[in-house]
Amino acid sequence: MKITCHHCKEEFTASNEQSAFITASKVKNMKFIIIECPICYESFHLDPTAVDRPVTAVSELADEDGLRCPNAGCFGIISFIEEEKPFWGCGECGTVWNKKSELFQDVKISIEKYPYRAEVYKKKRKGFIPAALEDEPEDYEDLVLAELNK
Ligand SMILES: [Zn+2]
Ligand SMILES: [Zn+2]
Repeated sequence: MKITCHHCKEEFTASNEQSAFITASKVKNMKFIIIECPICYESFHLDPTAVDRPVTAVSELADEDGLRCPNAGCFGIISFIEEEKPFWGCGECGTVWNKKSELFQDVKISIEKYPYRAEVYKKKRKGFIPAALEDEPEDYEDLVLAELNK
């Protein structure tokens, strides 16, 4: 199992321990795990589900990772996927945003339409980051599901 380090860009062969970890995480459908590079000893994030593809390392978690999906009726979580063409994708409905500005625009629209959605985001100067889970309305998922009946 070959892995490219995100820090030193060197390719290395995963140790047996790392291979087992990656395989186990893949089975559990985990999208982000941390691997230590045996060359530069830096840790980096890796998407185990992408390990069979040529470039396997993903960058540090982006600030907007974990944002709630702004689509009506969807309470999925957005992940930033750094590939040749980076994108933001919702694990629930499969929507993909190629530009962060487009994602933030959709978030803005969803908040204007459904004011309770403002509580799952924290506004930053340049966009949004996820609010803490405990700050989300308790019935958030019910509220979002109800959007489909409007
Ligand atoms: Zn390295
Ligand atoms: Zn979604």
